[in-house]
Amino acid sequence: PHLRLAGGGAGIINFCANNYLGLSSHPEVIRAAVEALEKFGAGLSSVRFICGTQSIHKDLEEKIARFHQREDAILYASCFDANAGIFEALLTPEDAVLSDELNHASIIDGIRLCKANKYRYKHMDMQDLEAKLKEAQKHRLRLVATDGAFSMDGDIAPLREICQLAQKYDALVFIDECHATGFLGPNGRGTDELLGVMDKVTIINSTLGKALGGAAGGYTTGPKPLIDLLRQRSRPYLFSNSLPPAVVGCASKALDLLMESNAIAQSMAAKTQRFRSKMTAAGFTISGKDHPICPVMLGDARLASVMAEDMLNRGIYVIGFSYPVVPKGKARIRVQISAVHSDEDIDRCVDAFTEVGRKHGALP
Ligand code: PLP
Repeated sequence: PHLRLAGGGAGIINFCANNYLGLSSHPEVIRAAVEALEKFGAGLSSVRFICGTQSIHKDLEEKIARFHQREDAILYASCFDANAGIFEALLTPEDAVLSDELNHASIIDGIRLCKANKYRYKHMDMQDLEAKLKEAQKHRLRLVATDGAFSMDGDIAPLREICQLAQKYDALVFIDECHATGFLGPNGRGTDELLGVMDKVTIINSTLGKALGGAAGGYTTGPKPLIDLLRQRSRPYLFSNSLPPAVVGCASKALDLLMESNAIAQSMAAKTQRFRSKMTAAGFTISGKDHPICPVMLGDARLASVMAEDMLNRGIYVIGFSYPVVPKGKARIRVQISAVHSDEDIDRCVDAFTEVGRKHGALP
């Protein structure tokens, strides 16, 4: 979490990585990568189904399925690929997909690639989802697709209600857990565990490139027949190189650590709570609830940008987001908390925000 930036600045604290659990610099994760590199080589020079499958790929798929309590899993080079591959492989022109309007770009692109009938419901709006599900009854199969946690707002999809509606209207539920896997829920299994619907969500896509070591890679986990189908039909799986052994080694060790204990996830949750409550007490509005994505809402694009610059002058690395990444008038600085931030790091960040906020009129 501590950086030196090109051009000078040392002792900068990084508050804008998806490294929620700090595992990218965990000594055991690094050692596992080195061991895998030495034992299994730099790479496979092949896709999985030709000569690109080693024991470690199969072991990691089994481990991912066990972690999520699902039947099977399939690895991809990224979650972007997992999202690009699933909808086209699963859905036909007789089917329908219902997607939250604020879903991640990779879900949107994946849906664009499939020939199913497309419905876009208003962000987390269950009345609108129900109306669209009613409309979609005429199709053979319905799939509701949502981010588990949304990366711009740090808000969490109402999965209980979504699963109830899915049951009522005979639909399957797909969630993208990139900003949940490893740390949401009592054992870090994700949004479905947090909201008590692990047995109701059919398909999970997630990444190995954020909380789970931060290297690269993505996956789909769910029912075995679905995973078998993806191995036969999913284009990014069929036509793109296998994950390199070092990357597999990182993710595998990260999952071992998380399955042994939830201490790291709990430490991140405590630090998130510290940041959110101190910032709120200082007078800032933080979007979302209990999530380590803590968007400091500022409204004005220029204010977000100059404040982020001034934060860097005070040793805090954060980024301002404005239109078109977020809606007009909803500019913000997105802070991301990690288990490797110390309480002092968090307090330094809050103090810097308070100073900079006063200077630029964001606080009285
Ligand atoms: N889905 C969501 C919600 C994401 O935030 C991201 C990454 O930004 C992805 C998918 C893509 O993940 P990856 O970096 O593994 O391709």
